[in-house]
Amino acid sequence: MRYSGLSVLKEGLFGNKGWKPAWREPEPKAEYDVIIIGGGGHGLATAYYLAKNHGITNVAVLEKGYLGSGNVGRNTTIVRANYFLSGNSEFYSHSLKLWEGLELDLNYNVMHSQRGILNLFHSDGQRDAAARRGNAMVNQGDDAELLDREAVRRMVPYLDFEQTRFPIYGGLLHRRGGTARHDAVAWGFARGADMRGVDLIQNCEVTGIDIQDGRVRGVQTTRGPIRAKKVGIVAAGRSGQVAAMAGMRLPIESHVLQAFVTEGLKPVIDHVVTYGMGHFYISQSDKGGLVFGGDLDFYASYAARGNLPMLEHVMEAGMTLMPMIGKAKILRSWGGIVDMTPDGSPIIDRTDVGGLFVDCGWNYGGFKATPASGWCMAHLMATGEPHEVARRFRLDRFLTGHLLDEEGTGSQHNLH
Ligand SMILES: Cc1cc2nc3c(=O)[nH]c(=O)nc-3n(C[C@H](O)[C@H](O)[C@H](O)COP(=O)(O)OP(=O)(O)OC[C@H]3O[C@@H](n4cnc5c(N)ncnc54)[C@H](O)[C@@H]3O)c2cc1C
Repeated sequence: MRYSGLSVLKEGLFGNKGWKPAWREPEPKAEYDVIIIGGGGHGLATAYYLAKNHGITNVAVLEKGYLGSGNVGRNTTIVRANYFLSGNSEFYSHSLKLWEGLELDLNYNVMHSQRGILNLFHSDGQRDAAARRGNAMVNQGDDAELLDREAVRRMVPYLDFEQTRFPIYGGLLHRRGGTARHDAVAWGFARGADMRGVDLIQNCEVTGIDIQDGRVRGVQTTRGPIRAKKVGIVAAGRSGQVAAMAGMRLPIESHVLQAFVTEGLKPVIDHVVTYGMGHFYISQSDKGGLVFGGDLDFYASYAARGNLPMLEHVMEAGMTLMPMIGKAKILRSWGGIVDMTPDGSPIIDRTDVGGLFVDCGWNYGGFKATPASGWCMAHLMATGEPHEVARRFRLDRFLTGHLLDEEGTGSQHNLH
C-alpha cells in the first residue's frame, strides 16, 4: 500500500478502516542468507539497503523486544553533518544526503525537519575550534556559518546573554542540520524492508552464535536455532554482549544516556541549540515538548533508565543557558544504553569469523548515522569490502593506534 495525501484523505472520510499493518509478522524460517541481530534503526536500515541496493532479500532481522524499542526510539532526534575529521565527515555528509531524500525513498513521513543547529561557543579558543570545524564542513561540501554574539542574540534571544561566568561569544550554525521523528525512522525502514521480502522477527532474542571451522553457521534464539550464511551484529548498547557469544571482546563500554521532555508548550525554540560550556542541548518537538539531554552516566551499565544525579546535572546546565526553561514542567525522562568506543567513532567491519560482521560504537550520535550506517553495512555484507565513506571505521584501528578521535573523550567518562 502506497501512502499519499490522497490515501490519508480517503481513509479519513471512510473511518480509517482500510489501513493495513505496515509489516508482516512472519514465523522464522529454518535458514536465511543473512541474519541481522537487532531491530533498531541501523539493523532495519541494513536490511532495507541489502534488499534495495543489492537484491539480497532472503534476510531476517531478529529483535529481542519490539522493533524500535532500543535507542532508535529513545534518542533526542538530532540529525547533522558537522564532523571535523576526515573519515567521519564524508560518512556523516553521505548520511545527511540520504536523510534529505529519505521520505521519498521510503514513502514514509519521518518528519525530517532541517531547522538548523546552533553550536554555541564561549571563549576565543572555542571560537577558533568552531571556525576550524566550520571550514572542514564547508570543504566537505556541507554548510556552516560562523555567527557573532549579536547574530546569535537575534536568532535565539531567549538565552542568557548577561551571564558572566560563561558569556556567549557566538555560534556555529549548520542550517541543514535538524531533527527527525525517531520511531518513524524505524517504522519507515521496517516497512520498506518488509515490502522487499525481509522477515522482521520480533520477540526473538539471539542467545548464541554458531561457528564451525572459523565460519558463522547461524544463531541460537529464544524461538529456536536459525541457520545463516552471514550474520551482522547490529545491537547498539548490547553489541559487547552479543559479540561475546562469538568469543569476541569488542572495544565497547556501554553507558546510559538520558533524555528529558517537558509538557507541550507553544512554539518557542525554532532550532537545535547546544551549550558549549556544559553538556546540554535542546530542541522543541512538533507536539511542543522541549526535548533535551546532556552527559552520559559516568559508570558503565545496562540499565536503560534515568537517575536523579544526572537529572540535576542537566537541569543546572539548562538553567544556566536558558533560565526560562525553569518555568516548564518536566513530563518524563528516560535512558538508553549507548555503545561507547575509546575514540568516540564507530565500527563497521568484518570480524575474524568468516561471514560475521559488526556495526556498533555509535556513542552519543548514531541516530543521524542511521541511513549511512545501513547503507555501508549492507555494502560490506553484500560485497565483503568496506564502503568508501566508512573505510576508516575498522576494528584494527584499536590495535594499530590509528584512531579517529573527534573529541578526545570517547568512552573515557572522566573527560566528558
Ligand atoms: C538519550 C539518547 C539520546 C540520543 N540522542 C541522539 C541524537 O540526538 N542524535 C543522534 O544522532 N544520536 C543520538 N543518540 C544515539 C542513537 O540513538 C544511537 O546511537 C542509535 O540509535 C543506535 O543504533 P540503533 O538505532 O540500531 O540502536 P537500537 O535501537 O538500540 O537497536 C539495537 C537493537 O538490538 C536489539 N538487541 C540487543 N541484543 C539483542 C539480542 N541478543 N537479540 C536480538 N536483538 C537484540 C535491541 O533490543 C535493540 O532494539 C541518542 C541516544 C540516547 C540513548
